[in-house]
Amino acid sequence: DITIGVLTSGGDAQGMNAAVRAVVRMGIHCGSDVYVIQEGYQGLIEGGDKIHRTKWFDVSGIIELGGTVIGSARCMGFKEREGRRTACLNLIKRSITHLCVIGGDGSLTGANKLREEWTSLVEELHSLNKITVEQKATYKKLHIVGIVGSIDNDFCGTDMTIGADSALHRIVDCVDSIATTAHSHQRTFVLEVMGRNCGYLALCAALSCCADWVLIPESPPEEGWENQMCERLNRAREYGSRLNIIIVAEGAIDRNGNAISADYVKKICTERLNQDTRVTVLGHIQRGGRPSAFDRILGTRMGCEAVLALLDSTDETEAAVIALKGNQMVRIPMMEAVAETQEVGKAIAAKNFARAIELRGRTFNR
Ligand code: ADP
Repeated sequence: DITIGVLTSGGDAQGMNAAVRAVVRMGIHCGSDVYVIQEGYQGLIEGGDKIHRTKWFDVSGIIELGGTVIGSARCMGFKEREGRRTACLNLIKRSITHLCVIGGDGSLTGANKLREEWTSLVEELHSLNKITVEQKATYKKLHIVGIVGSIDNDFCGTDMTIGADSALHRIVDCVDSIATTAHSHQRTFVLEVMGRNCGYLALCAALSCCADWVLIPESPPEEGWENQMCERLNRAREYGSRLNIIIVAEGAIDRNGNAISADYVKKICTERLNQDTRVTVLGHIQRGGRPSAFDRILGTRMGCEAVLALLDSTDETEAAVIALKGNQMVRIPMMEAVAETQEVGKAIAAKNFARAIELRGRTFNR
């Protein structure tokens, strides 16, 4: 029998609650005690009632809620060794040896560091006679599994991250709404969508809404793109369109790596085409609201698989992330996937866009 802890960390995403619920219920179903840790790593350091044993019906009525009901936080203390040692002691106090971290690549990097800290702390506690030989054997390793919650769909190795589908739905709803007023007034709308250095939301929103133009970080436009865009917008109007929609990813850049802002795109449309152009920055609306059915199911499947991975974990098992590949749940090595994800940012900064697209995978390749 194992004791499992589960937390959500970093930016929230719709569907995280489904994952928490699944970890709790699958854990209980498999005979484990499950503790929920509130407010991410902050709660892990604070301890006390931030870490509490959770029963089956404690997670009722949460699957349909957005965000994360157990709270998330960005915790600076966890980046310090002392903070992570306190976190380890709080886990050991409750015999929690198996931890499921739901968050982005930053949170998973933190989880790996916690795991490294754990082993030396257990050695130390034993040498100080604070734990017995048997306890040392039981606590030898902190078993970790990660689930990626991120509306940006920016994690390498999984086809989808939890929250991306809901955010995309939210964006598509917004574009559809904006299109009706744009149509009435024959306006052009420039919409900035989230995604940090990932263009998934912008690209998929543009495809779903038949946008006239899209700007994403992985594929910056050729020099002189402004003329091409103006031609495209003009042509649409000539064919009778009463509106134009342009989607700009928040991380959009040009070939030289300079940011392309929604305001700059507006300026082009206004000055060169004399179009009545408005900018809408969708902002946190994209993270909010109810999760889509897809994210509820994805969270549920990932949460169940995470518990199975923890149950299978031995002292030799590497930390894994639960990923969706070809509609199957798979376990991939956590730190390799984190490294690949971070490599995308580096590839974009180095203007190696082909490499960034290759790392991003399917949606961008075809
Ligand atoms: P995300 O998980 O969404 O990428 P962050 O990068 O903000 O979000 O990470 C969330 C939290 O994870 C941070 O506030 C911090 O507590 C922890 N964390 C992130 N990076 C590290 C790191 N290199 N070492 C230790 N902890 C980290």
